[in-house]
Amino acid sequence: MMDCSFCKTYFEPFMVVGPVWRKAMRLNERHLTPCVPCIQHRLGRPLRIEDFDLSIPINQNILLGIRLSRDEQQREYERWYRDQRNEDRRQQRAARKKRAPKKKA
Ligand SMILES: [Zn+2]
Repeated sequence: MMDCSFCKTYFEPFMVVGPVWRKAMRLNERHLTPCVPCIQHRLGRPLRIEDFDLSIPINQNILLGIRLSRDEQQREYERWYRDQRNEDRRQQRAARKKRAPKKKA
């Protein structure tokens, strides 16, 4: 863990690629350690996967975060799909109930 030179919050170390770093940081700030939100604020845009060299060990946490968020997205999709299916079944049951009395009459 290290603390951000700007907002002082603790964060897991990471490295962005050179061009992104040079764009975010002024010449006399290159020794500083900004966190992700502070770099994004400097860049004026969110960081993307391409902004990190994922082959270097220090970025293992970024890689892990991407994997975790993919898993989370997958789980979210499965929850949504299950809810949709349950809702469809509920509506089908309701429709059957509505039709049933008419058949008797
Ligand atoms: Zn910060």
